[in-house]
Amino acid sequence: MASSDTEVVIVGGGAAGIAAGRRLTDARVDCLIVEARPRLGGRAWTVGDGSGAAIDLGCGWLHSADRNPWAAIAEAQGRTIDKTPPPWRRRSAPIGFPLAEQSAFLAALQKFEQQLDTLPDGADDVAAATFLEPLGRWNGLIDAVGTYVSGADLARVSARDLGRYDDSGVNWRVREGYGTAIAAHAAGVPVVLDCPVRGIDHSERRLRVDTANGAITADAALITLPSAVIAEETLAFTPALPEKIHAAAGLPLGHADKLFLALSDADEFDKDSRLFGRTDRSRTGVYHFRPFGRPQIEAYFGGPLAATLEPGGERAFVDFAIAELTGLLGNDFARRIRPLRLHPWGVDPFARGSYSYALPGKADCRATLAAPVDDRLFFAGEACSRGDYSTAHGAYLTGVAAAEHAITARRGKRLP
Ligand SMILES: Cc1cc2nc3c(=O)[nH]c(=O)nc-3n(C[C@H](O)[C@H](O)[C@H](O)COP(=O)(O)OP(=O)(O)OC[C@H]3O[C@@H](n4cnc5c(N)ncnc54)[C@H](O)[C@@H]3O)c2cc1C
Repeated sequence: MASSDTEVVIVGGGAAGIAAGRRLTDARVDCLIVEARPRLGGRAWTVGDGSGAAIDLGCGWLHSADRNPWAAIAEAQGRTIDKTPPPWRRRSAPIGFPLAEQSAFLAALQKFEQQLDTLPDGADDVAAATFLEPLGRWNGLIDAVGTYVSGADLARVSARDLGRYDDSGVNWRVREGYGTAIAAHAAGVPVVLDCPVRGIDHSERRLRVDTANGAITADAALITLPSAVIAEETLAFTPALPEKIHAAAGLPLGHADKLFLALSDADEFDKDSRLFGRTDRSRTGVYHFRPFGRPQIEAYFGGPLAATLEPGGERAFVDFAIAELTGLLGNDFARRIRPLRLHPWGVDPFARGSYSYALPGKADCRATLAAPVDDRLFFAGEACSRGDYSTAHGAYLTGVAAAEHAITARRGKRLP
């Protein structure tokens, strides 16, 4: 691609970019997704586990599944929706965590979440950690869960933003992979892969989009990059858009990484059950045993723990997991597990983290980031969503909304 021309350039081919591309293509608007990676999907990424099963290194759960557009899309693609409830709202085997303590912890977690909703609308925002019970018995573990949910310690997370998160409580999975379903939704949408966008010049009547493989001229651009990538200014706007950079900086991407382990003699454990590595600290992994009934463990690490392990690569995660699991299940357990796959999202140059959270006082940055500029630069991506941020369906909804804006703006320009 030396140079080319289109009506709408879509920068980034993740869930938001794909949703926007699908909507524009269906409306017969000439568009082109320009994606830096050699694949579509972004933080939605399904790979094989080596035995024929699909594993999701990024999004895996159809959160708010009863109103999640990806559920219907995956079903229409003929994929299998697994409706087994997730392990995180119920008690699991009492290994290192007696059932009565699990109940007490789940009640404390629920109370904390309810407290977040008590922040009055007009009041100043505070860190979510403010709502932890002083010296509460379960604060460490609630903070650990916070690192899985937000990718950061509760002390860094806006209570207002966390309170706005809208979760229907219904969670399903796609057996063939959430990432597979999302990438397949781009079928028929024009795409260029392996093509990082470096800059957008919006000083003239037509836009000039500079990429690693040449320039593209366009009437409009729909930018779907992760907020952390926008904040780093790897994509330069001319003239500059400081309000977008500031808004993106208020919405960093937290750390969350999954390590998949093969497990021998797996039947000893319940399907879709889970263990916390430790219940007395926030720097701990959570281990989902037999996801989909498979002989595997899906280990999850969040926040500062994931950030500390990432530079050491897969080995560091495996060593940490073995230390925690043998602490619970005995030294012989190490012989029963074998690493399958891990992706360190924080050091991935095209993601720079896993999902966005708002710093205290920065919840409204989501609306600032999402606002169009001059009716021809449109913004989408999970960080732009008020209540469905950090999710693949939030990304979808912002992508479709931005595409609708672009369609409306185009119609307006064509009126005499
Ligand atoms: C470990 C993990 C677990 C998760 N679990 C869940 C879950 O269970 N359920 C859920 O709903 N969500 C989950 N998520 C979050 C979900 O994956 C994301 O919110 C969603 O995929 C984001 O989509 P997006 O389009 O906003 O961004 P992205 O998917 O990041 O898309 C942006 C695209 O822009 C590309 N790009 C970057 N720089 C450039 C450039 N310069 N030029 C061109 N292209 C560029 C990127 O490669 C990427 O493809 C998880 C994420 C992770 C990492």
